[in-house]
Amino acid sequence: MTGRATGAVVVLGSANADLVVRAPRLAGPGETLSATSATTGAGGKGLNQAVAAARAGARVAFAGAVGEDPHGQLLRGVLQRDGVDTALLRTDGARATGLAVVTVTDDGENSILVVPGANALDDLTDDDRRAVAAASHLVLQLERPRELVRRALRVAREHGTTTVLTPAPVSDGLDELVALTDLLVLNAGEAEELSGEPGVERAAEALSRSATTVVVTLGADGALVATGGAVVRRVPARPAAAVDTTGAGDTFAGVLVALLAEGARLERALAAATTAASLSVERPGAAASMPTRAEITAALP
Ligand code: ATP
Repeated sequence: MTGRATGAVVVLGSANADLVVRAPRLAGPGETLSATSATTGAGGKGLNQAVAAARAGARVAFAGAVGEDPHGQLLRGVLQRDGVDTALLRTDGARATGLAVVTVTDDGENSILVVPGANALDDLTDDDRRAVAAASHLVLQLERPRELVRRALRVAREHGTTTVLTPAPVSDGLDELVALTDLLVLNAGEAEELSGEPGVERAAEALSRSATTVVVTLGADGALVATGGAVVRRVPARPAAAVDTTGAGDTFAGVLVALLAEGARLERALAAATTAASLSVERPGAAASMPTRAEITAALP
């Protein structure tokens, strides 16, 4: 197809400032509790997947929205440092940058409050449309308005751009979006919830009657692939000494797409994705823990 940039990936998704507060335990209703530390980092499934794909070597443009505030500058800087093109990252003068307030306790429990802020921006610009039409892959999650996701998927379908969806957070009424998806990447819980089928295999099989290819991640058990109503492949995880699994799923999805966008076959892309995700769980943080292409290559079996 003329004008298509080989290997170009557009991620249309969320970007949040993650305010991570460490505390001995979660505070109860009406309680004031002294916390141990607070750090602000970059997060949001869209930003995470964009960074993972860029570190794996893909040419990535991030179509997102931040506020006109210091958090927005922080996120823009994080993306640019990893070589992500931010020409499609908009600044919403009316809303603050998305914020996730995460409390993590000493025994690993957590609670999360998300304020979507600028992520609620719901129009698809002409520049977004042109980039989606020219890309090889469009990557989406559900932390932006559903109507925006639907419109972007339709533009991609009209122009032969491969569509990749991580349907998180899962909600009702996603059938049309799944039917517009070439590659559905989701974890076991999301697969069961989205399909309404108990058991990850049955869930994957059901979803693959609608999306072309379904990849379900299984934590330390790796991943499985279903197409045409049947499980067709299992991929073992690379053994890892996990210290923090935050962002493992986003690392997996971003690296999978990066490899597919450069023309790798699914089997090789899956090996890179499981290797990259296993490396990310061995280090703390979400985007901060994502490996580079050189690290992935060195750790491949
Ligand atoms: P998260 O929400 O923590 O980002 P997720 O629930 O979306 O993760 P998982 O299925 O837990 O996704 O993990 C994604 C991938 O990360 C797995 O397919 C696997 O390759 C890798 N992974 C996760 N946990 C481990 C582990 N303990 N050891 C090795 N690899 C792991």
